Amino acid sequence: MRKNIVAGNWKMNKNFPEGIELIKDILEQSKNVDKAELIVSPPYIFLSEAASLLSNSTIGLAAQNCSNQESGAYTGEISSSMINSVGANHVILGHSERRAYYGETDELINQKIKLCIANSLKPIVCCGEVLQERENEEHFTVVAKQLKGMFENVSPEEFKNVIIAYEPVWAIGTGKTASPEQAQEIHEFIRETIKNSYGSELANNLSILYGGSCKPSNAKEIFAKPDVDGGLIGGAALNANDFIAIAQSF
Ligand code: PEP
Repeated sequence: MRKNIVAGNWKMNKNFPEGIELIKDILEQSKNVDKAELIVSPPYIFLSEAASLLSNSTIGLAAQNCSNQESGAYTGEISSSMINSVGANHVILGHSERRAYYGETDELINQKIKLCIANSLKPIVCCGEVLQERENEEHFTVVAKQLKGMFENVSPEEFKNVIIAYEPVWAIGTGKTASPEQAQEIHEFIRETIKNSYGSELANNLSILYGGSCKPSNAKEIFAKPDVDGGLIGGAALNANDFIAIAQSF
């Protein structure tokens, strides 16, 4: 059976003491969460400390990005094996902010997915359309193209490690949320698309998260949809009470 997952994407927020405080608060309150797996994703430089704080817990730890190269002369880059070596177990890949501000393409994301899996990290792979594409009713085509590009030559064995996050770009950080019906129809489409490439078993076991202004007040309705298996949470993940309340929405 697939897992319910609530993953927090901290982005470039919090300094080190604030980040550690947030992890401790989440750890403390996570005792009240029993229907979802939690994942936190602080900035790279907090990962090592976060891993020791979380070592006796079931809370997952994600990096927000990784290099598309294995190692070598790539100044400023962080490799999957480095991320694994400090105790993280997931990586967020293909976030729309990486696509929009750093020119990431499906091809580049594909390279990162393969490296993550090779280094025992589970990728949380993002897809989703911008507002214009939604208004032109191109969202299915856009998401199908992203999935095809990102999972090119990813084998079924590799795909078992993947989590997908559907994040309509028009809903990220805007306060606008996809309706539960909009989320359901595209999550169902994503599952169907994966089924066509990887078969029913992998598609049924795949956790597909919704992301885009998800908060305690709307999570319950969205998570109630059959193909929504949780959320990738931005703003609301920066507050332990909100993050935990979202995880209690199942
Ligand atoms: C995100 O950036 O992944 C996200 C979903 O952000 P927010 O919840 O703030 O819209």
